[in-house]
Amino acid sequence: MATRSWWGWGTVDEAVTGTERTALTSRVAALLPEADLTVHEPPDPRSLSVPAPRVLVPDSLARLASDELGDRIRHGHGQAFRDVVRSLLGRVDYVPDQVIRPRTEQDVIDVLDWCTSARVAAVPFGGGTSVVGGVELGCAPDYSGTIALDLGHMDRILELDRTSRAARIQAGILGPALEAELRPHELTLRHFPQSFEFSTLGGWLATRAGGHYATVYTHIDDMVESMNVVTPVGISASLRVPASGAGPSPDRLFLGSEGALGVITDAWVRLQDRPRWRAGASVVFDDYGNAVAATRTIAQSGLFPTNCRLLDPVEAFINAATNTAGGVLVLGFESADHPVDQPMHRAVQICLDHGGRVPDGIRTTDSADTGTHTGAADAWRTSFLRMPYQRDALAAQSMIVETFETACTWDRFDALRAAVLAAATAAFESIGVAGVVTCRFTHVYPDGPAPYFGIYAAGRWGQTVEQWDEIKTAVSEALHTCGATITHHHAVGRDHRPWYDRQRPEPFAAALQAAKSTLDPAGILNPGVLIDPSK
Ligand SMILES: Cc1cc2nc3c(=O)[nH]c(=O)nc-3n(C[C@H](O)[C@H](O)[C@H](O)COP(=O)(O)OP(=O)(O)OC[C@H]3O[C@@H](n4cnc5c(N)ncnc54)[C@H](O)[C@@H]3O)c2cc1C
Repeated sequence: MATRSWWGWGTVDEAVTGTERTALTSRVAALLPEADLTVHEPPDPRSLSVPAPRVLVPDSLARLASDELGDRIRHGHGQAFRDVVRSLLGRVDYVPDQVIRPRTEQDVIDVLDWCTSARVAAVPFGGGTSVVGGVELGCAPDYSGTIALDLGHMDRILELDRTSRAARIQAGILGPALEAELRPHELTLRHFPQSFEFSTLGGWLATRAGGHYATVYTHIDDMVESMNVVTPVGISASLRVPASGAGPSPDRLFLGSEGALGVITDAWVRLQDRPRWRAGASVVFDDYGNAVAATRTIAQSGLFPTNCRLLDPVEAFINAATNTAGGVLVLGFESADHPVDQPMHRAVQICLDHGGRVPDGIRTTDSADTGTHTGAADAWRTSFLRMPYQRDALAAQSMIVETFETACTWDRFDALRAAVLAAATAAFESIGVAGVVTCRFTHVYPDGPAPYFGIYAAGRWGQTVEQWDEIKTAVSEALHTCGATITHHHAVGRDHRPWYDRQRPEPFAAALQAAKSTLDPAGILNPGVLIDPSK
């Protein structure tokens, strides 16, 4: 079995080395010649000073618990740039006292009962890929101890309904295992966040994750039929129906609840037949305004492409090796039911009407002909899955490499992009670093895009976390001022709290506070995310 990296993304074997490292370094040196790209190695985790566990588990739970140092360290942080760099610097700011791995719903109930009575804070833990401080509790002085409640042993498909195309799946299952179990049934959940390999169904539900498809079924919210959630005061099991108008939806309360209201143990999710027909094209533009207009027209056309990823010129240069003044629109369609040439041709025509060019033409595949499920989209996905490893390599070379994701209506996009670029540039100047900002759309809706901004800046070793924090604050303020959301799919966690608290309406905050007090009266569930427990 592959060894997981304790400090960074994925597995040790997959880390960037050799020619990949050389190529990456020379690309960055060309972009930012002033960058000091000396490679810094992570410390030996056994050399780190970590306090002994503050709390011991009762005998009845001992079979589920681990206080092994490496296990505790790996459960004390997520996978954001600032998490990776702090680990590289040997700064393990938070380490849970115990890691507890329940195997059954009753185990979860027993753990929460103990936490409530012993005043131990419990952080539900899926794959630990949070990028918003969602699993990093901090020192928690008000509690007698802290645990990571790792759902990784609850990882099975419990029931499959082929007729309705749905399955009841345990929360701790990782993306690849979930898809592998569905494949023999020719079914797929078709939810592929970039973190797919190392994140779980429960994590996706608890953070309202977004997959990499651009339109229609891409948010995990839309794939949920019903959910089973263990709260400290009882189990909330919603009715399994395709739709219901019976008042506010119980599922909507727990989707995005980030471990603060209950522990999701399993869910019935909607499945789809595996796609067979695919079409893809890359459209090059000379003018970014025209590229945005073409993308908006496609988003409003009712064509619903699978992929509609507009890369701005800097993003196209860095991540698609394409030199263009107006950016590149990566278009894709797929279907399990019919060929998709027609919608693709219509989408391309819209681009041509806006001055786009399609130098490489349209690529179509039929997996029944090729005998495989691979294609251009899968090749792109492979490079997409490589990006986190490259981010970590650059983080170890003093680079600040991180992203912001948001959503706004089309009428506000131009002003938003200008404000983000201005805020980031001012922050670069204030901290004295050279940097660039990129923008791509990860998702598009008829009424607006979800822009995803990338930051590449030449930081100073030992200071890149604080430098990033300054950039993050400046850009988050710009998002707030422009009326854009503080997060489109990465969730709130602890890092986005200052802006989330200002974004949500006060009566809603009061209702959320009441829900927290009712479901978790002792305030033991993931304190600090979303809303604070009542004193
Ligand atoms: C390189 C990289 C790429 C990413 N790409 C995407 C992307 O494309 N789309 C996207 O949406 N996000 C993305 N993310 C963010 C992250 O992967 C998602 O938020 C993901 O949904 C977290 O799942 P997880 O299983 O790792 O959850 P964790 O990180 O373990 O937990 C996240 C939050 O959910 C809570 N939680 C976890 N499991 C449960 C449960 N069973 N019950 C109750 N609460 C629970 C935790 O307490 C925590 O608050 C990315 C992150 C990285 C590092």
